Amino acid sequence: MSDCIFCQIIHGEIPSYKVYEDDKVYAFLDLSQTTKGHTLVVPKVHKENIFEYDETLAADVFSRIPKIARAMKEALPDMEGINIVNNNGEVAGQTVFHSHIHLIPRYSANDEFSILFPDHGSQMDEKRMSALAKKIGGEI
Ligand code: 5GP
Ligand code: ZN
Repeated sequence: MSDCIFCQIIHGEIPSYKVYEDDKVYAFLDLSQTTKGHTLVVPKVHKENIFEYDETLAADVFSRIPKIARAMKEALPDMEGINIVNNNGEVAGQTVFHSHIHLIPRYSANDEFSILFPDHGSQMDEKRMSALAKKIGGEI
């Protein structure tokens, strides 16, 4: 897509700090560097979000993630962990509408990145949990 910033990066029309490239994906440093080494992995084909993936594209993209994550760990010796984040939709914090996976190295619990998982489990009961699981599962 010609007006897509990540398509332009993939095609070399906008400069980027390339980490890795093959026929399916392009990986480059996120300009924000939320933590040092923060990297984005994007499919070369323009897809807005995860809802547009088929199984082949999912395999193409997600199969590349472990080796890139391991390379980051090798290159960044202080890195103790990594958050792998994929925002889908504006409500989920997506700002660039070419699907991308964030690889965010973690150096300590106080390195300015966090994800909050509020615990609302007490608002549910067995019956509601079971119905919810069946409802989602029934659509697969
Ligand atoms: P999102 O909020 O959509 O999950 O993440 C988009 C990310 O793209 C942000 O972390 C932002 O810093 C990054 N970004 C936006 N424009 C550019 C750009 O032109 N080059 C690079 N390398 N990263 C970008
Ligand atoms: Zn694109």
